[in-house]
Amino acid sequence: MSTAPVSRQTFDEVMVPNYAPAAFIPVSGKGSRLWDQSGKEYIDFACGIAVTSLGHLHPELTAVLHEQVDRLWHLSNTFTNEPALRLARRLTETTFAERVFFSNSGAEANEAALKLARRYAHDHFGGDKTKIVSCKQAFHGRTLFTVSVGGQPKYTEGFAPLPGDLTHIEFNNLTEAELAIDDNTCAVIVEPVQGEGGVTPATQAYLEKLRALCDQHNALLIFDEVQIGVGRSGQLFSYQGYGVTPDILTSAKALGNGMPIGAMLTTKKVAASFVVGTHGSTYGGNPLACAVADKVIELISQPELLEGVKARHQLLVEGLKRINDKYHAFTEVRGQGLLLGAQLAPSLKGKAKDFVNAAARHGLVVLVAGTDVVRFAPSLIIPEADLAEGLKRFEAVTAELVEKAAQPA
Ligand SMILES: *Cc1c(COP(=O)(O)O)cnc(C)c1O
Repeated sequence: MSTAPVSRQTFDEVMVPNYAPAAFIPVSGKGSRLWDQSGKEYIDFACGIAVTSLGHLHPELTAVLHEQVDRLWHLSNTFTNEPALRLARRLTETTFAERVFFSNSGAEANEAALKLARRYAHDHFGGDKTKIVSCKQAFHGRTLFTVSVGGQPKYTEGFAPLPGDLTHIEFNNLTEAELAIDDNTCAVIVEPVQGEGGVTPATQAYLEKLRALCDQHNALLIFDEVQIGVGRSGQLFSYQGYGVTPDILTSAKALGNGMPIGAMLTTKKVAASFVVGTHGSTYGGNPLACAVADKVIELISQPELLEGVKARHQLLVEGLKRINDKYHAFTEVRGQGLLLGAQLAPSLKGKAKDFVNAAARHGLVVLVAGTDVVRFAPSLIIPEADLAEGLKRFEAVTAELVEKAAQPA
C-alpha cells in the first residue's frame, strides 16, 4: 500500500468525480481559522456549509466528544442510549416538538419527514392524500425522494423515474400556494430561508399563508431548517422568529458542529404514525453525535449567544455595505442572522465561483449559492477581530474582481 503523501491530485486519481474541491487541502482548524497543507492560514466565513457554527475544535465540544469516545461508541437501535435521550429531551424543551427522530444527515431527516407525512395522511385520511407541495429553488437533500421534492431540476436530471405526486410552486408566491394546496395535499415543505437557492428569506405573510392553508386542508407543514436552524438565524430555530409553528421541523448541519447528525422534530400526534418498524437508521441517534449535539444545543440556546449572532449580523452587513459603497459589486445583501447572501451586480453575472477562488488566494473561505450569489456563513461566535480581518480580505477580493470585470475582454 502506498504511503506517499496525498494531495489535491490524489482526489482526481481515486475519488468519484461528483465534487470539484478547492485546490488546497485544509488540515487543521481552530475557532474561525483554518490552515492548509502548506501552512497558509484562512479566515473561515463558511463553517463547512453552515455546519461548524461554534467554530473548529470548540473546547467544550472536544471535551464532550473525548468523554463519550472513552465511554461508548455504538449500540444500535435495539437499545436506546443516554446521549440520545438527553438531546431529545433538550430539543423538546427548547422547541414546539414533543417527539424526535434522529438521522445522520439533513437529507435523511427530510426523508423521514416526507415519509411520515405520507404515512400520517394514509393513517388518518386514506390513500388519496399523497400530494407534496414544495418550492422552486428549494434544496432538501440528495436522496431520490428529497432531490425530487427539491426545486432545482439540474439535480434530478438523468435520475428518472422519480417519486410521484410532487408539485413545485414559486417561493414566496401566495397565489400559487393557494392554487396548489388542496385536500389531496399531505404536506407542504419549505425552508424558512432558502439556503442553496440563493439565501432568500420567506416573507412573514408567506409562512403565515402556508400555515393557514395547511390547517384548512389537513396537510402537515414541514420546515426544513437544516441550514438556517440551530442559532444561525439569531433564534435557536428560525420559526421562532417568524412565530409560525410547523408540524414537523428538520435539523442537521450545525446540530453536530461537524459530527454527522440530523433530527426530525414533531408533535406527539403526528409522531404516532411512525409505529414500531415503519422507519429506522443504523447510526441515527448514535451516542457520539448525540453527546456533541446536546452540548451544541446547550451552548447555542443561551440568550447571550443568540444576541451575539444579531450583533455579528449587524457588523457583517455593515462591512459588506461599506465594501459595496466603494465597488458597487452587489445589488442586494440579504439573509437572516449569520446566513447572508450578496447578490452580484449584472457586471459580475455568473462570477460567484470566481469570488470563492479569489477569496482562497487572499486567505478567506466563502461560499456560493448558485452562480450569482456569494454566501457567508461564519461561526456564530467568530471573534470580532476575525470578522474584521475576513471583511478586509473580502474587500481585496471584491476590488480585484470588479477591476477585472471592467477590463476590456
Ligand atoms: C444541506 C441541506 C440539506 C441536506 O443535508 P445533508 O446533510 O447534506 O443531507 C437539506 N436541506 C437544506 C435546507 C440544506 O441546506
